[in-house]
Amino acid sequence: MQYNVNLPPEFSDRMRLLLGDDFDKFVASLNKELPVSIRLNGNKFNTELSENIPWCADGYYLDKRPQFTFDPLFHAGCYYVQEASSMFIEQAINQYVDGKIKILDLCAAPGGKSTLLASLIDKDSLLVSNEVVRSRANILAENITKWGQANTVVTNNDPSQIGKLEAFFDVVVVDAPCSGEGMFRKDEGAISEWSLDNVKLCKERQQRILADIWPTLKSGGLLLYSTCTYNLEENEENILWMRDELGAEVLPVEAKEEWGISPSFAEGIPAYRFFPHKTKGEGFFFALLRKGGEEIHTNNRRKTGKVQKNKSDLSIEYKSYIEGEEDFTFYNKRESWHAFPSVLYDDLNHIRTYLHIISEGICLGEFKGKDFIPNQSLALSNVLNKDVFTTYEVDWQTAISYLRKEALVLDDQPKGYILLTYRDVPLGFVKNIGNRANNLYPQEWRIRSTNIPQEKVRII
Ligand code: SAM
Repeated sequence: MQYNVNLPPEFSDRMRLLLGDDFDKFVASLNKELPVSIRLNGNKFNTELSENIPWCADGYYLDKRPQFTFDPLFHAGCYYVQEASSMFIEQAINQYVDGKIKILDLCAAPGGKSTLLASLIDKDSLLVSNEVVRSRANILAENITKWGQANTVVTNNDPSQIGKLEAFFDVVVVDAPCSGEGMFRKDEGAISEWSLDNVKLCKERQQRILADIWPTLKSGGLLLYSTCTYNLEENEENILWMRDELGAEVLPVEAKEEWGISPSFAEGIPAYRFFPHKTKGEGFFFALLRKGGEEIHTNNRRKTGKVQKNKSDLSIEYKSYIEGEEDFTFYNKRESWHAFPSVLYDDLNHIRTYLHIISEGICLGEFKGKDFIPNQSLALSNVLNKDVFTTYEVDWQTAISYLRKEALVLDDQPKGYILLTYRDVPLGFVKNIGNRANNLYPQEWRIRSTNIPQEKVRII
């Protein structure tokens, strides 16, 4: 059999041992077209597409890869482009998590799992999305902002620093950096970087990450572990290591047979494997673990009060930018006004003393003299009170110009800040000064590509 994907021979030998008779089917599937899938943001846009991903309520397959860059709703956070297998974590959350929780997504950039988690938890729960690599943490913050949930914080820390927040989180997600064998058909680089030594290094790093983060999980708390690689070392062997060294219990997650998910290779240890010849998605490994011991309630809060100083100085005019403003705490941080759910404000202050926060809740905007400049985070927030702004609906061409950060001319509009919408979804603000409107779209988020399609792109 001839294959286009050039697999490292050692990798092929190992996979042949793992898959037996299925090996040829596995390799053949690597030469097939990549499935394309998205997950809708139900807080912003509700629709149904034709092919649902069976293990994720808002997940859909598309029949081709469109030019997402030129769909304004993509930039407005109405959906996230995510490969299907990794949406399976929804099953674990739905089957085991209920009520108000604090959840950490440790290795979160660019934000696929975090945006899914943000949609699954209730509004009084807290999501901390962390990414250790600074440049990737910025991309994560951008995607989290676009998703629009107020109960989220983005941090940029090493797992060992987060481990110092003892017994703080009810759920920790470790989507570990791995050797990426499941990405071979998507990413040629993953093939050239593959080696047995790298598999070994990845396994050691994963164990270090897990040991470092373990103290921050409450007793009885859940740890969701996943990789996008196939080998036993980074998967089942790490699960067994967590069971034996950390005392974790491995939990089953219900999955329907017709989903084509394969079981773990370790007898008696539940885990969920996605192979491209069996499931419509990329290679993926998932296991759910519970930390042993009785749940303990710690009272290790450090008193700060640092940020609380300017807490209530903002006038009602600006607070009313947020729907349900009575449920939010408003405070000033580095010149900008923020809103954060009041029920979670103590937790935010606690995190602040340990971690490096990149973004938190909703940034409303800042004063320049008497002028209050609204922030993009407000425009894209799910709790934006649209009624307090003059809104201006734009067509596709104008939406693309706006997202390219070009100056616009608006017909018959009052001077001042105007919220642009596309298909009724907020895109961002402009400041209308009469003969033109200054574009407030964040410079670093703008569409850079100049290959603008002739035809409008519409995906959902
Ligand atoms: N969860 C993400 C998603 O769904 O979009 C994908 C995460 S990716 C598989 C793994 C992430 O771990 C990368 O963003 C990488 O920068 C980060 N990472 C690399 N080394 C790390 C370390 N030592 N500790 C924690 N995270 C690390």
